[in-house]
Amino acid sequence: MLVVMKKNATSEQIEAAVGAIEQKGFTARPIPGGERVAICILHNKGPVDASFFMQLPAVKEVIAVTRPFKLVSRESRAHDTVVEVGDVLIGNGHLTVMAGPCAIESESGALAIAALVKERGARIFRGGAFKPRTSPYSFQGLGEEGLKILAKVRAETGMPVVSEAIDHEVFDLVEQYVDIVQIGARNMQNFSLLRRAGKSRKPVLLKRGMAATIEEWLMAAEYIMEGGNDKVILCERGVRTFANHSRNTLDLSAIPVVRQESHLPVIVDPSHAAGFRDQVVPLARAAVAVGCHGLIVEVHNEPEKALSDGAQSLYPDQFADLCGQIAAISNLTRASMH
Ligand code: PEP
Ligand code: MN
Repeated sequence: MLVVMKKNATSEQIEAAVGAIEQKGFTARPIPGGERVAICILHNKGPVDASFFMQLPAVKEVIAVTRPFKLVSRESRAHDTVVEVGDVLIGNGHLTVMAGPCAIESESGALAIAALVKERGARIFRGGAFKPRTSPYSFQGLGEEGLKILAKVRAETGMPVVSEAIDHEVFDLVEQYVDIVQIGARNMQNFSLLRRAGKSRKPVLLKRGMAATIEEWLMAAEYIMEGGNDKVILCERGVRTFANHSRNTLDLSAIPVVRQESHLPVIVDPSHAAGFRDQVVPLARAAVAVGCHGLIVEVHNEPEKALSDGAQSLYPDQFADLCGQIAAISNLTRASMH
């Protein structure tokens, strides 16, 4: 249920409405909109009697939210959310490119790749410090040392950095160092991790689980927003299918559906979708054409020596081509490279 306040409602009237809703035992969550404030009613068990809220001062209307995801839903916020990360904007009319290696492997390597991707069009640097690997014998990431290198990359290049918190145990540490905390595909329904992300003040990049429906993905985002963090960036990264010509199958149709269902920005990771570098550029072009708000791409200066995901990491020159191509496509879709 959404209690929509009149355009000229005062902050006292909004507070009074919040108080009246909470008096009934519900949670009231004001959502500032372009023109008016709406108050989303959460934690109601069963239908709520609209007439009670209609008679509160400065209430314009009461609308039912039909979707199970409330705060995430387009119904509760008509305008696209823009997530600000320093001076970089993600969402509504912007096309934001994040790039870097799968894992941080060394300081010199990370700084070299960061300089290369920045020069070619990246605005945010990616790199895993804690890696969720299928095999316990594979490189697991440098841990805190990797986070320190990410902080150095930010200091030297000015680019904000994104890295994954693979579990509850490392969340605090990752949060201290990075500008965006990533929740990986394998953790999309790790509800205690989602609740922890909801308490964070940092933006959260929420990857779609490899077997998750769009509704499950948006419900995962709802956990974060319900916890109080509205800076959520969704990321489609391919789902598992019977195909073996690619690592996963990029679900391009998810982008227009998510944009219709939610106000949150949605970006695409063509690297983990593809698994092979030659597929990454065409998939990235397609992702921009269907209207994503940005990309997160793996790039390495020496992919054949990469400690993880070398086969899907672009050479810097391929990444430069990709940035040029998507700039042209985004002119047509009217998103400005940001
Ligand atoms: C990653 O981006 O480093 C990663 C592991 O991705 P995903 O969770 O999508 O597999
Ligand atoms: Mn990877």
